Amino acid sequence: MTGYSGVWVYAEHRNGVISKNTLEILGKGRELADKLCVELSAVLFGCNVSSSANVLTIYGADKVYVTDDEKLRNYKTRTYARLMTELILKHKPEIVLFTASTTGRDLAPRVAARLRTGLTANCIDLDIGDFEDKETGRRYEKILYQIVPAFGGNVVATIVTPFNRPQMATVRPGVFPPPEKIFRKGEIVLFKPEAIDVDEEVEVLEVNRSQEESSLENAKIVVGGGLGVGGPEGFKLLKELADSLGGCVGVTRPVTDAGWMPYDSMIGESGRTIRPDLYIACGISGALHHMIGVRGSRKIVAINNDPKAPIFEAADYIVIGDLFQIVPKLTEKVKKYVGAL
Ligand SMILES: Cc1cc2nc3c(=O)[nH]c(=O)nc-3n(C[C@H](O)[C@H](O)[C@H](O)COP(=O)(O)OP(=O)(O)OC[C@H]3O[C@@H](n4cnc5c(N)ncnc54)[C@H](O)[C@@H]3O)c2cc1C
Repeated sequence: MTGYSGVWVYAEHRNGVISKNTLEILGKGRELADKLCVELSAVLFGCNVSSSANVLTIYGADKVYVTDDEKLRNYKTRTYARLMTELILKHKPEIVLFTASTTGRDLAPRVAARLRTGLTANCIDLDIGDFEDKETGRRYEKILYQIVPAFGGNVVATIVTPFNRPQMATVRPGVFPPPEKIFRKGEIVLFKPEAIDVDEEVEVLEVNRSQEESSLENAKIVVGGGLGVGGPEGFKLLKELADSLGGCVGVTRPVTDAGWMPYDSMIGESGRTIRPDLYIACGISGALHHMIGVRGSRKIVAINNDPKAPIFEAADYIVIGDLFQIVPKLTEKVKKYVGAL
């Protein structure tokens, strides 16, 4: 496809502080841009955000397009979608990436629809490769592989967008490690649209941040609980263990479906992606839907009373036994150890 070039990342921020998830996809974007031998650009919209553009170059952007305007103080779907579409039409990037955050999930499909291109939602990985259309025999070189769990998480599918441009994807938060600072000497390009078309139908009254989101996804230690925990009472044991380790509790989907723990604490394909140093899975079978969310953990300890539990295949340390016997003993040991330090 001619005329399209470059990899773009839509940069999310809160009061000018670039989100960790944006930096994660910026790192991946750098890798993709290097494979394609093209520029990596970030797009930053907001009010009083110009000074944050440097952060994006430090983490790998060659160029940052910035629109800094009072009218962009709060995120509004249609205002941002129009602006992003205008910028894309002007510069024609080949690939545009968003985080699959609440904002990214809202913005990306609207931009894709306006551009009449495809969008692959919730990717767990991205790569560059070739594709041959079996029907026409036509070969497409160096296109974006958009890798997603499919068929209820039972297979991992690679989606390609051979015909339309740009190729667009949202990426699950937490699937890529945060990049190293590479201090690139980037270019800041101020984009001043003729008019910013403000969506008057929407008024932002208040912005609240979910505490759970930041704590679970940033925790160094996560104690996970599944149906084997048996009910809300059992989670008190897990909370005690997590507290003793300075960590957080995360759960499987059936646990939130049963109302034992809040929806915010769900880990997996439909929930959060975590990358702790240590994940202690208690009473969790290890279904792929769940494991997708924990595969970035540095070490996994699994406690399960079924010696054939699939989670043991993914775990670094396995404990076969009743969690109600093991977890309190573990907590006691940790408290003694921490107390002795
Ligand atoms: C489209 C789709 C999306 C999904 N998304 C997600 C998702 O994001 N996250 C997610 O987690 N799931 C998700 N699921 C559900 C997923 O497929 C599994 O059903 C779920 O992860 C299983 O949860 P579990 O391990 O808690 O329960 P189970 O599979 O029932 O496992 C319970 C485990 O506890 C063990 N156990 C029981 N008692 C004890 C005890 N006393 N001591 C020690 N071990 C004990 C058992 O041996 C068993 O291995 C999704 C499903 C679908 C169809």
